[in-house]
Amino acid sequence: MGLLEELYREIILRHYKNPQNYGELPGARLRVKGENPSCGDQVELQIETDGQRITELRFLGQGCAISQASASLMTELVKGKSWEEALALERKFKAMVVDGAPPAPELGDLAALSGVHRLPARVKCATLAWNALEPVSY
Ligand code: ZN
Repeated sequence: MGLLEELYREIILRHYKNPQNYGELPGARLRVKGENPSCGDQVELQIETDGQRITELRFLGQGCAISQASASLMTELVKGKSWEEALALERKFKAMVVDGAPPAPELGDLAALSGVHRLPARVKCATLAWNALEPVSY
């Protein structure tokens, strides 16, 4: 395993074992669930918004390391962002894991999931949390 792959693996495991923004967000204005039956992954996003920005964001979920690490990294990245910015990041993330584009610098540690492109069965794991975010964004 190369150094970069090892680093990526470490980031994924760190977020899987110690997910960021995990837990209940009492009184959250938006709640949206996502499911990936092919792997048994689930996420529930709880979002607070002022209409322009994602002011607070937490998630609950269970499933494989890729799905949960992706949710954790996604919440870290989009919290505080405008919906427009969040969707632009989603497009960049999907370009990376679905189309195999090189990781955009704005994606930060989400670059750790770039290898998922070579594992077609896991693409739905990686995009689960992002897909849940999309329908509530307008
Ligand atoms: Zn999965």
